Amino acid sequence: MEDQEVLTTLKILIIGESGVGKSSLLLRFTDDTFDPEQAATIGVDFKVKTLTVDGNKAKLAIWDTAGQERFRTLTPSYYRGAQGVILVYDVCSKQSFAKLDAWLNELETFATKHDMVKMLVGNKIDKEKREVSKDEGLKFARKHHMLFIEASAKTKEGVQCAFEELVEKEGIDSAEEDD
Ligand code: GDP
Ligand code: MG
Repeated sequence: MEDQEVLTTLKILIIGESGVGKSSLLLRFTDDTFDPEQAATIGVDFKVKTLTVDGNKAKLAIWDTAGQERFRTLTPSYYRGAQGVILVYDVCSKQSFAKLDAWLNELETFATKHDMVKMLVGNKIDKEKREVSKDEGLKFARKHHMLFIEASAKTKEGVQCAFEELVEKEGIDSAEEDD
């Protein structure tokens, strides 16, 4: 056997408006699939994937909203204990971008770990009718101390990176805490 592997489990949330592609990003990441026929209402609720970042293995328990965000009924237990969050908007929807503040407020209200690592993802960059520029996304992320990436669940671009960078940052943060 190799030296013992450190396997940390991280609870990661995916939040953002309905239809921005949260479930699609998750399925692209965990199963490397994309189903354009998937109805926007269908929700995945939970997926586990092991990722190796900087030689360390991390087990990600990723929580998706299962469509509950439409009714604004995400419960405190959804947020409890989460170490990282992926906040998604659709680069072709100004409306989904305008709702980011409300999502951060909700996170602030319910999250139990307040120095949570946050990743902002501008999804659907494969589409033509963009309404939010990369610069606007970047500025929002900087202002709120978030990591930022643009992605497409459809073409895969940026998807793996989004999760890896989040875990990398979380790993660094928790290593500092342990000192
Ligand atoms: P959710 O409600 O945030 O979970 O969004 P879904 O994952 O259900 O996606 C909503 C719709 O957007 C579906 O029809 C997806 O096929 C589509 N979609 C998701 N991601 C992308 C993407 O990166 N590019 C394109 N073109 N469509 C996407
Ligand atoms: Mg969904």
